[in-house]
Amino acid sequence: MKALRYLNPGILKTEEIDSPVCADGEALVRVHSAGICGSDMAIFAGKHPRAKPPLVMGHEFAGEIVEIQPGGIETQLAVGDRVTAYPLLVCGSCWACRNGVSHVCRDLKLIGIDRDGAFAEYVSVPLDLLVKFSDRLTYDQAALIEPLAVGVHALEMAGEPDWQTALVIGCGPIGLLVGLCLQNAGIENLLMCDINPRRVKRAAGMNFQAINSADTNLVDRVTEMTQGEGADIVFECAGSAPAALQMCDLVRSRGKIIMVSVHKEPHPVDLRAISFKEISMIGTRVYTPGNYRQALQLITDLPYEDVISHRVNLESGADGFDIMGQAADACKVIIKAEI
Ligand SMILES: [Zn+2]
Ligand SMILES: [Zn+2]
Repeated sequence: MKALRYLNPGILKTEEIDSPVCADGEALVRVHSAGICGSDMAIFAGKHPRAKPPLVMGHEFAGEIVEIQPGGIETQLAVGDRVTAYPLLVCGSCWACRNGVSHVCRDLKLIGIDRDGAFAEYVSVPLDLLVKFSDRLTYDQAALIEPLAVGVHALEMAGEPDWQTALVIGCGPIGLLVGLCLQNAGIENLLMCDINPRRVKRAAGMNFQAINSADTNLVDRVTEMTQGEGADIVFECAGSAPAALQMCDLVRSRGKIIMVSVHKEPHPVDLRAISFKEISMIGTRVYTPGNYRQALQLITDLPYEDVISHRVNLESGADGFDIMGQAADACKVIIKAEI
């Protein structure tokens, strides 16, 4: 089969390799759509702590089942079903796994990072991780369930919405999907920001109140919007050092900061402001199986097309990574089996 393989930092190649063997308890899925994630970019740059070449990346995907090896596992799934996957592989025995929060397993692994993923014609997936979806969803739409589940989880971690004014820092795919979750939750006083004018434009085009924080003073704007108090809640979706440093200035006393992005290094944070304003800073990682199912429901009615900026075919999959890394207007880039 054809697969886009990560061979070395900065080197990706679409090449012919053996199709994965469908092991007992797994299904072989013919991949139709797979999204490139920020973590794939980190792998490509050689900055991921676990991913080792050669590797087929891709954990946000949708396709159809072409083979099932039940291996004694009872399953409702059948050949021909349209499926996506909850891509987390957990140890099952650590504290998190024993306490119902296996998404923060001490030894968390992912399909597409720790074993071959979906930037290929076929991927083999444990049956219990597959999630069936109906004909009402397109494959591209279903490939967005995974990043949308990140947004669903972020809102769950934010707790009961006793907050009215929300700020989302970063208008990349995750920021936009968090914004859509907030809109869906009925949060009206929502401000989005980014330093990339193309991303701000995309957010504004989706009817978000969006500002370019490179040329507008964000603290002034939030202060003005909140009668001098600061936002009730800030969702940090940028993952950058300036965002980490500024976020405490943007939230009110007793407000919340939800860390949605993954900061690749320890960035400075204003800890004094956390004390003085009694800010709650809440970490989030991926999603629970429940969040994934919620995202599957939610994606049906969301303007998902607005989040997709480019599509490339598997043959030129490496171009998708170049677009993600370099194109100013890049948002979610989808690799398609064929276009
Ligand atoms: Zn992802
Ligand atoms: Zn575990």
